[in-house]
Amino acid sequence: MTQEIYDVVVVGGGPAGSTAAEKLAEKGKKVLLLDRGGRVKPCGGAIPPRLIKDYKIPDSLLVAKATSARMISPKNKKVDIPIENGFVGMVDRGTFDEWLRQRAQAAGAIREVGNFSELKELDGLVEISYRVRGKAQIGEGELKKVYARSVIGADGAKSGVGRAAGVAGCAEANYVFAYHEILRKPEKTSIDYDASRCDVIYQQQVSPDFYGWVFPHGDTLSIGTGSADKGFSLRNAVGHLRAQIGFENAELIRHEGAPLPMKPLKRWDNGKHVVLAGDAAGVVAPSSGEGIYYAMLVGSSQQVR
Ligand SMILES: Cc1cc2nc3c(=O)[nH]c(=O)nc-3n(C[C@H](O)[C@H](O)[C@H](O)COP(=O)(O)OP(=O)(O)OC[C@H]3O[C@@H](n4cnc5c(N)ncnc54)[C@H](O)[C@@H]3O)c2cc1C
Repeated sequence: MTQEIYDVVVVGGGPAGSTAAEKLAEKGKKVLLLDRGGRVKPCGGAIPPRLIKDYKIPDSLLVAKATSARMISPKNKKVDIPIENGFVGMVDRGTFDEWLRQRAQAAGAIREVGNFSELKELDGLVEISYRVRGKAQIGEGELKKVYARSVIGADGAKSGVGRAAGVAGCAEANYVFAYHEILRKPEKTSIDYDASRCDVIYQQQVSPDFYGWVFPHGDTLSIGTGSADKGFSLRNAVGHLRAQIGFENAELIRHEGAPLPMKPLKRWDNGKHVVLAGDAAGVVAPSSGEGIYYAMLVGSSQQVR
């Protein structure tokens, strides 16, 4: 075999994969960090004080700081809770994730932009195939193969790596579908919006089984909700939330959604050379859907031969 052999190929350059790649490269491992690129992860972007401290996130990445959280009950009772240890940081995932990938690269990881397609176990190694992303659409680029002693699947919810490697329970896991809109903050805002507060709304009209949120992002905001009920209109629910804070006519910059795992998988590995991390392994706080910190914690705990 003339191809290069990596100690580990990390598929997915979100918080889990980038942190795993960074920490393993720091330990002297030969690491390839593969991410398909081209899409900003749909996310409210709220990160807790502990993440900012433990993973040395610079202030320049924070687009807003929320110093309190408002809980709104089904009966519209509002309770404001100050954030312990200062503030919750708000990040823009396009900038934040790229910064994490660059930090992994600075630690020695090799970066590649490509779309994972399959893997095969061969003589104690794993052959990973992916399509390089160029001008062609994803899936139509040149097919490349690399070899690794271990693979970390950090490719998010409904992990393609997990399914290709036959990780038990991966194909059957349950998800909430979360949707949000990024709005430009109007110049004049109502008393129901506070740019230093995260609102969390538990109301039937907003979600029958999850919650809605209004998160400040400086000049913009993320306003969203989620549900496992496929018949529930997330768009209408967000429309309702917009009306509640008087932002019906605010400029819509982007709208997007993604599955959010609600429960860790029983197994995170295939018993051989593949392990999952972050959303791929279903690691989020089930009460809130908060996953960035847990993705980084699992990513930074990876050990490979
Ligand atoms: C609408 C919404 C709002 C949320 N809000 C918050 C919040 O405010 N705070 C919070 O903590 N959590 C939030 N979450 C959860 C959080 O986004 C995730 O838990 C977190 O991003 C998980 O990180 P990860 O690295 O495991 O996966 P991801 O962030 O999903 O990263 C996966 C990476 O894999 C790459 N990838 C995927 N498939 C392939 C492939 N085939 N080949 C190569 N690369 C691939 C993707 O490009 C991506 O970079 C939210 C989620 C949603 C959907």
